Amino acid sequence: MSLTVVGSIAFDSVETQQGKRDRLLGGSAVHFSLASSFFADTRVVGPVGEDFGPEEFAVLEGRGVHTDDIERIPGGKTFFWAGRYERDVNNRHTLQTDLNVFQDFEPKLSEASRAADVLFLANIQPDLQRAVRRQCEAARFTALDSMNLWIDIAHGSLLDTIALVDCVILNDGELKQLTNEPNLLRAARKVLEHGPRVVVAKQGEYGAAMYTAEDFFALPAYPLEDVVDPTGAGDAFAGGFMGYVAAHPDEEPSDALLRRALAYGTVLGSFNVEAFGTERIQRLTPEEISERVADLSRITRFDDAPVPLRA
Ligand code: AMP
Repeated sequence: MSLTVVGSIAFDSVETQQGKRDRLLGGSAVHFSLASSFFADTRVVGPVGEDFGPEEFAVLEGRGVHTDDIERIPGGKTFFWAGRYERDVNNRHTLQTDLNVFQDFEPKLSEASRAADVLFLANIQPDLQRAVRRQCEAARFTALDSMNLWIDIAHGSLLDTIALVDCVILNDGELKQLTNEPNLLRAARKVLEHGPRVVVAKQGEYGAAMYTAEDFFALPAYPLEDVVDPTGAGDAFAGGFMGYVAAHPDEEPSDALLRRALAYGTVLGSFNVEAFGTERIQRLTPEEISERVADLSRITRFDDAPVPLRA
């Protein structure tokens, strides 16, 4: 029941309609691991700078996340991202990306991280994702996320990495951009042709869809009236999804299991947006997760009662 994640560990500056925050703890691996920590023993791999201190480590360790494979680079600066959301939170503008310590990072995984049962390559340069993938030979389920920046500047490398994983988790727009295909179903099928068994399309406030050779399944987002900060929702979604798979070590990740994983991902993503940065997930409880999953199951269930249809 062990899960390893590599991805960005960051300071984020975020501006939404609800306010502005500077230097929030963020990064794809951070949002992911806080969510997955509810399901499985999680290890984070990635570099930070000297500006990443005990307070930041304490947030991860407070949720039982293993931080031994977080490399603190002497004299280095932690990855920094700044973004602004429009009134329609589906529109996000990246204002700044400073790779900093990620520029020269060479992942060296500990024995424990390499032995992971489930591996997630969160959003970071695809060469780094591949370097980690190669070290985790034993993983029985692997997935990756990425973003428009890497699709633009590292397209070939990203496709090489996609060929090495079981599952690709991307936004619908990113899937279309990656495959140069305006139709989502066709885009998902093109990605499946590269090797993965599953493609998950994240669709922000509209939910998420899952494509395999035999199955299609979709869920709406959990209905919320107030979205404070969408940053990291995709990563928390992936944390819930992969965490659910990791919590079932003796079960094949069948289409039926992945459907349930999609529901847990949806719920973790929904909590993430209720406060800035990692605030909401830090005070989340297992009971709240279970309640919301039950609620989502109730909302999305429907029993057909056929009517006579007129020709
Ligand atoms: P999401 O909202 O799920 O797309 O993820 C937001 C997180 O991704 C933020 O916490 C950022 O620190 C991180 N992020 C933004 N740009 C990049 C990038 N180019 N590489 C890795 N992580 C990034």
